[in-house]
Amino acid sequence: MDHAPANFVAPGEGDDHRALREGVRAVVSRFGDDYWLERDEDGVFPFEFHKAMADAGWLGITMPEDYGGAGLGVTEAAIMMHEVASHGGAMAAASTVHINLFGPHPIVVKGTPEQKARWLPRLISGQDQCCFGFTEPDAGLNTTRIKTFAQKVPGGYMVHGQKVWTSTAQVANKIMLLTRTTKYEDCARPTDGITIFYTDLDRSKIEVRRIPKMGRKAVDSNAIFIDGLFIPDADRIGEEGKGFSYILHSLNPERVLIAAEAIAIGQDALRRAVKYARDRVVFDRPIGQNQGIQHPLAERWMYLESAWAMTMRAAQLYDAGLPCGAEANTAKFLGARAGHDAAWQAVATHGGFGYAKEYHVERLYREASVTRIAPITEQLILCFIAEKILDLPRSY
Ligand SMILES: Cc1cc2nc3c(=O)[nH]c(=O)nc-3n(C[C@H](O)[C@H](O)[C@H](O)COP(=O)(O)OP(=O)(O)OC[C@H]3O[C@@H](n4cnc5c(N)ncnc54)[C@H](O)[C@@H]3O)c2cc1C
Repeated sequence: MDHAPANFVAPGEGDDHRALREGVRAVVSRFGDDYWLERDEDGVFPFEFHKAMADAGWLGITMPEDYGGAGLGVTEAAIMMHEVASHGGAMAAASTVHINLFGPHPIVVKGTPEQKARWLPRLISGQDQCCFGFTEPDAGLNTTRIKTFAQKVPGGYMVHGQKVWTSTAQVANKIMLLTRTTKYEDCARPTDGITIFYTDLDRSKIEVRRIPKMGRKAVDSNAIFIDGLFIPDADRIGEEGKGFSYILHSLNPERVLIAAEAIAIGQDALRRAVKYARDRVVFDRPIGQNQGIQHPLAERWMYLESAWAMTMRAAQLYDAGLPCGAEANTAKFLGARAGHDAAWQAVATHGGFGYAKEYHVERLYREASVTRIAPITEQLILCFIAEKILDLPRSY
């Protein structure tokens, strides 16, 4: 295996995807290991990388053509994100651009023509950066229990509440915000009474506190505190109280993209491990000649390839308009596991040097781990498969 996947076209991809990969690679490969190691140390947002991707038009790959996007599907987006995460930038690179691909989907699906014209071109060009305020400290994965409340007032809404883990809020000027407009207790169904907004991140009304974290240091995550934020009616997406159904549109694409990113990180780590195993001589032979070194690497390769096949299957089902919940969740679960395990095996293969920053595999290992937790945990995916596929009683 070469260190860089120069002519890499993965199973499930057509020849027409080769140009897409090469186009993305032309931008991504300008940002090498040293750039990403520096960002991992200083925690500064990768502005140069974001701008380079925007300038090359990649931020609009899934956006409608009418608003300046390329109008492509999840398959192409997954291939793009696989390439983005393959070259040492890992989740820091992926998260810099990931939000643009399916995060704004509620706008695409439910926005008015005026809203789309006002918001989408600026996201595609990189002029606007958006963060997502969905998760709340007291609700966790049980999204229907959010408490951030948007009170109707003349001309708009007055919002108070708290969010946690809001990524990129340090640099974003826009926020997509999930609120309640009717209290949980007053709704017929738990999913009723939730309203979604896309609005200015007004720092005079929103306090943003960075959360120190294990990996992906360059792309910040935050606790945010909203105190008396006025949101005009014009910034509400779709109908009041129907917001929960709008976010469902983007869940399966997001799982597919995370799978692609995790697999890319695992494959990047594996390539580095294989190179090291060939080069490092101990007991007068390359360590990679020992089965104890080569078998786990061979096994990781198989898991990564299998997860990629499931990822492409989920993407192709979605793009064909077919149900893909089981496949997208399975891809996310398997991809995150395979990526994480391969990154760990790369650390182990490097011995003591696996622990040193200069070989980058410890960073890839830290970067890969978040894909097992966010945006949905492994446990909740297992709950979904148990309930929806195996027809077992709902456990949560
Ligand atoms: C780096 C990072 C970036 C993020 N970025 C964003 C962002 O930009 N915007 C945003 O809104 N959110 C973001 N998140 C939040 C992320 O989506 C949540 O952390 C994730 O959904 C898990 O929610 P939680 O942390 O509240 O876990 P909890 O809901 O508190 O769960 C804790 C643990 O209990 C398990 N658990 C809970 N209930 C059950 C059950 N019934 N059965 C089995 N197990 C259960 C969970 O699986 C988990 O392991 C981010 C998180 C991280 C780490």
